[in-house]
Amino acid sequence: MSVATPPAAPPPGRRQRLARRVAAVGAMPLLQTARRLLRRDLRVYAWHRVRPLEDGFTFDPSLVSASPEGFREQVRHLRDRYRPLRCADLAEALAGGRPLPRDAVLLTFDDGYDDNFRFAFPILRELGVPALFFVATGHIDSGEPFAYDWLVHLLLTATPSAARLPAPLDDLQVPPGRQARLELAWQALDRIKALAATDQEAWIDAVAGIGGATPARMHPDCRPMDWHMLRSMRAGGMEIGSHGVSHRMLAKLDDAALLGEIRGSRARLDEELGQDTLAISYPVGGDDSFDARVLAAVEDAGYGFAFTYNNGSNRWPPARRHALLRQSVEADMDAAWFAGIAALPELFAHPSVQRTYPA
Ligand SMILES: [Zn+2]
Repeated sequence: MSVATPPAAPPPGRRQRLARRVAAVGAMPLLQTARRLLRRDLRVYAWHRVRPLEDGFTFDPSLVSASPEGFREQVRHLRDRYRPLRCADLAEALAGGRPLPRDAVLLTFDDGYDDNFRFAFPILRELGVPALFFVATGHIDSGEPFAYDWLVHLLLTATPSAARLPAPLDDLQVPPGRQARLELAWQALDRIKALAATDQEAWIDAVAGIGGATPARMHPDCRPMDWHMLRSMRAGGMEIGSHGVSHRMLAKLDDAALLGEIRGSRARLDEELGQDTLAISYPVGGDDSFDARVLAAVEDAGYGFAFTYNNGSNRWPPARRHALLRQSVEADMDAAWFAGIAALPELFAHPSVQRTYPA
């Protein structure tokens, strides 16, 4: 299978090169042991999509966190050297005032793409490792593609080039060439995320008009999971959490819409899956997507834990269990770098999210 050119893949950085050298001399377990003596915390990993990246892929390649083969190696590494927990284990430990086991890790997924079911779930089940999948319930209900990724698709497939984007981004034009269009899409996403959530959606709808015929809003490469898949995953030992109803940035909503996203998604998950939903992850997840009002609303809605997309590890018990930090997993992480980030994130992980477009 041919593989598409990675999106603007940077050359190996300082941290990645160091990880390769440390792994080559077999010193990674030593670093893990040293850290284990100094710190007992919870590390949470965040993937988006796990799938092969084929030529002709017309959605955001930066959302593909790992190939199936790479993901299998990552999960095997965490299973063999760490202690993967369920979110329910965290709740029990917190309620009982107990510490977590050393090397505690939690595996999470954001968004709810159907490749989570097709590629990630069978690997997790085979290796006996649990994971927590955060899904946007409105997309599970409708089967509609995810708006930000749909925007990337619209810009990659727009004809002709040189079309001007709708206001307020009408200073930007659609360039020729895939890489230039990807960069335009990421720039546009960064800028529209300053808008109110409904204005973001209206703007993306307006972009659909610039490419001539509006493409059908269904595509096999950008499908959410359905309830049947989620029920199968729960039966297979996975956990399902909320990522809102419509993947809106919660801090950009008025009170009524905020409660609709938080409470509405929880009610759908509880109803369809017969569970008492324990956790939510904030759509987009950076500092501009949640605030004190959002944290209070999430706690009030009954969520025991909420996860951001800010990088870091969590002391236990956590000071803010509704603003837990995660480590994003990106496609350019080779096995050595992933092992380094797991062993000693203070040395090998980027201090903050590097992508300009967290999702
Ligand atoms: Zn998301």
